[in-house]
Parts: sequence; structure tokens; C-alpha cells
Amino acid sequence: MVYDIVIIGGGPAGLTAGIYVKRAMLNAVLLEKMGIGGQIIVTDKVENFPGFLEISGADLAAKFEEQARKFGLEMKGMAEVDSIEDKGNIKIIKTTEGDIETKSVIIASGTTPKRLGAKGEVELTGRGVSYCATCDGFFFKEKEVVVIGGGDSAITEAIYLTKMAKKVTVVHRRNELRAEKINQEHAFSNPKISFIWDSVLEEIVGKNVVEKVVLKNLKTNVTSEVKTDGVFIYVGLIPNTKFADVKKDERGFIIANAKMETSVKGIFVAGDCRVTPLRQITTAVGDGAIAAVSAERYLEEL
Ligand code: NAP
Repeated sequence: MVYDIVIIGGGPAGLTAGIYVKRAMLNAVLLEKMGIGGQIIVTDKVENFPGFLEISGADLAAKFEEQARKFGLEMKGMAEVDSIEDKGNIKIIKTTEGDIETKSVIIASGTTPKRLGAKGEVELTGRGVSYCATCDGFFFKEKEVVVIGGGDSAITEAIYLTKMAKKVTVVHRRNELRAEKINQEHAFSNPKISFIWDSVLEEIVGKNVVEKVVLKNLKTNVTSEVKTDGVFIYVGLIPNTKFADVKKDERGFIIANAKMETSVKGIFVAGDCRVTPLRQITTAVGDGAIAAVSAERYLEEL
């Protein structure tokens, strides 16, 4: 069987594309290697998605999924895409569970949190080092944790961690946060959060579990130690785009035009894995809708 559209990735971008292509009565399948919902599943609280004053990421993801299922979107779990072979009007998606033939593709494969590369980081991952406060925050009840980064992920997760931890220290390499102003305000006014500015993480130390971190102040070059039970790292995102042989920027984000068309005819992109000035649920959803309509028009022209 040849699909009209294969959507790679089951986050907000992919699920929105799925809703639109099914409403256009196209024959589509969505492939997701982890859980349907993407990164928002591990987001504690979403308060900037219009229509919901406040909702958990998992609940929002469940609503997206329910809506996509309502329109009959086929979803395949656990299929990891290795490559896309471009045969012109037909694309062959090579997955861990066999080949899938399709006339068009929407890549909505999102991103993965970046590793920092600090000494001790790999060895102590799962032993106090984490990239997901929603998953691991529970283990730090009444403990002290350090959060690395100054973006929205670091700040929103630091705020979330204050529900469990007794003290949260945010370490940022500059003296100004990158996060949205409203998130900054929430963090600055939270009595459990303190900040260490102009500093980077040099080493995470611990025999079996995290015991302390070694920080270096970039202005003074002075190193210092901070005792901590946990280290949560949020230093940016890596696009999940290795399998896609399309034009990308130097960091691997896929380049697309306003119609979400990539450099290869019939391959579209949506959401966090593309070059975009803003990575939010709202923008992912918008991308998904545009990519779906562009794919539909492409199929009409075929
Ligand atoms: P990000 O915006 O790229 O921020 C990464 C942070 O890590 C920056 O503060 C950066 O410092 C720091 N950093 C990068 N490399 C570092 C290194 N080697 N050592 C120390 N610090 C380092 O990534 P993000 O916070 O994961 O957010 C990704 C996207 O998702 C953004 O568009 C964000 O707005 C969005 N998001 C939004 C929300 C929300 O509630 N609205 C929540 C989560 C994510 P510099 O600032 O100095 O570059």
C-alpha cells in the first residue's frame, strides 16, 4: 500500500497535521517512536496555549491525540525512522519495523534535550543528574537541586521543582535570563529559588549519587563548590532530523519556506525541528496545519 502522507512524530505539530490531513480525507499514518504527545507530555503546566487557562502538558497531549483519533488518524508506535529514500513521486520511509511507501512526508520529529558534556554528567545520569523534572522531581522531595540554564525550560522546570525540593539554585552562564519575562518574574519571586550568575558547570561530583557540583565564574575565573542532591540540565535542544536528507542549518534544524516545504519536493516539516524564531506549542500547531495543507495541495498536483 502507498500512503498519501506519512507524518513522522506525534507531538503537537504532527498531531495537528494529522487532524488536518484526515479532515481532507487523505490516507495517512503517523509514526511515533516514544509516546504520543511529544515533549509536552513531561511539561508540568502549560498556560500559554489559548483556550486553556492552565492545563498539564500530558492532558493537552491527550486532547490532541483524542481529536486526531476522532478523525481516524492511524498511529504507529515504536517505529523509528532510519531514513527517507526519495524516489520522486514516491518516498520510501525506512523504519526499524520495515519500509513504508508514501507520496509525501511531514517531518515533525521535534527535538531532544542537549547534553552539556560536563565531567561526571554521563556517569551520574539517573543518579541525580536528570533532564526531566516532571519525571524525576519526585525523588528530590525536601532535597536541594541545581538547575543549569537560563531559557524557558530551565526556569519553568526550576519553578516546578520548588513543589518538591526545599531549595533550587539556578546556575546561568550570563547575568540575564533568556526565558520569557513572565517566567522570569515567577522565578524571581519564588522564595525557594536562588541564582548563581555568570557561571558554568565544570564538574558533577559524587561516588554513587550526586553530592556536589563544581562551578566556574566566567568573570572572575574563580571555581566554587555547591553541595547538591540533584542536577537538572536544560541547555537547549538538538533536532531529531538525522534521518532526513534535506537542507538544514549548521545545527541540524530543517530549513523550510512559509509553506513548510523543505528542499525536497513532497517532504514538508513542522514544529520544533525546523529553523524557526519561536518554539512553542502554538507555533508547532500552526506549522502542522500549514504543512498538512501544503502536502494536500502537492498531492492534488501530482
Ligand atoms: P534555549 O531557549 O535554547 O535555552 C538554553 C539555555 O541554556 C540558555 O539560557 C543558554 O544560555 C544555556 N546554555 C546553552 N548552552 C550552554 C552551555 N554550554 N553551558 C551553559 N549554559 C548553556 O532552550 P530551552 O530553554 O530548552 O527552550 C527551547 C525552546 O522551547 C525555546 O524556544 C523556549 O522558548 C521554548 N520553551 C518554552 C516554554 C514556555 O513555557 N513558554 C517552556 C519550555 C521551552 P544563553 O542564554 O547564554 O544562550
